[in-house]
Amino acid sequence: MKVAKWWNEKEQGIECYLCPRRCIIADRSYGVCNVRKNVDNTLYTIVYGHPVAVHVDPIEKKPLYHFYPGSQIFSVGTVGCNLLCEFCQNWDIARAKPDDTQMHNISPEKIIDMAQKSNCIGIAFTYNEPTIFGEYVLDIATLAHQSGLQTVMVTNGYITSEAIDDIYPFIDAANIDLKSFSNEFYRQYCKGELQPVLDALQRIRDLGTFIEITMLIIPGKNDSDSELDHLTRWIVDNLGQDVPVHFSAFHPDYKMRQLSRTPKETLDKARKIAIRNGLRYVYEGNVLSENEDNTYCYHCGRLLIERRSFSIMKNNLEGDICSCGSKIAVVQS
Ligand code: SF4
Ligand SMILES: [Zn+2]
Repeated sequence: MKVAKWWNEKEQGIECYLCPRRCIIADRSYGVCNVRKNVDNTLYTIVYGHPVAVHVDPIEKKPLYHFYPGSQIFSVGTVGCNLLCEFCQNWDIARAKPDDTQMHNISPEKIIDMAQKSNCIGIAFTYNEPTIFGEYVLDIATLAHQSGLQTVMVTNGYITSEAIDDIYPFIDAANIDLKSFSNEFYRQYCKGELQPVLDALQRIRDLGTFIEITMLIIPGKNDSDSELDHLTRWIVDNLGQDVPVHFSAFHPDYKMRQLSRTPKETLDKARKIAIRNGLRYVYEGNVLSENEDNTYCYHCGRLLIERRSFSIMKNNLEGDICSCGSKIAVVQS
């Protein structure tokens, strides 16, 4: 256990302000994420230095398609999450409790060493929601930057502005989930709110972190034409046309096993609406796609990066300029 950041003492207990839930935590109790505990009026993080998943992954798996394409990233996750999504696709670790789980013991210094030895461009905080292990993220990311490594968050964007301002100056790229464009959906299926996620997307982008967005499309829940239209318009108007967007297929899991898999046609429809609204880079995930994984120049249509699943078949792009002179939103050396 390590003393946490981002909390205040209140009359009824400790208020944690790492995420918008702002849990009030009584003595000997945990926050909603199950990993932050009040002991004698001090808040502790239970998972600092204790990941449960540590792997080398292709960066495309995060998914990040426009940030060092074709590279490997050292990926770290703990247990716990601050949203309670009924459709969680990673619930075995997201909903696990530290006491019930075999956790590793790996210091930030050791993580850096492991990432360097495995030839990775950097470290991704992923698998569960990294916001809830913000202290571990911050210490690893600070060391990573000192060592010339990149840092990546794969997150639900459910984080306060105070924590963003502390953590994201040390984060180079993020894939942020936008689960729906309906507050009702966030309330009913995630026990959260939409607006803090929209605020976080803008704030993180404004701090200079490279962002991509993922939306998991669930049949009958967030796949209407009007929702997809509003959501993609909001992205264009508030974040710009260059933000890569991934529409991902849902598979029946956790508390939503009664629904069917998302048909590819629904992802095709979402992609069409997004492109019609001006987004330049729109991808489909969790389905077999022919060309919907590739990056094309928005101006001349040239095939720039050809992908098959998580592999790069061909990268025709040098730096970030297409042969027609258009600037492409890609970060690579
Ligand atoms: S990070 Fe955890 S303890 Fe803190 S406010 Fe969010 S859910 Fe509650
Ligand atoms: Zn071009």
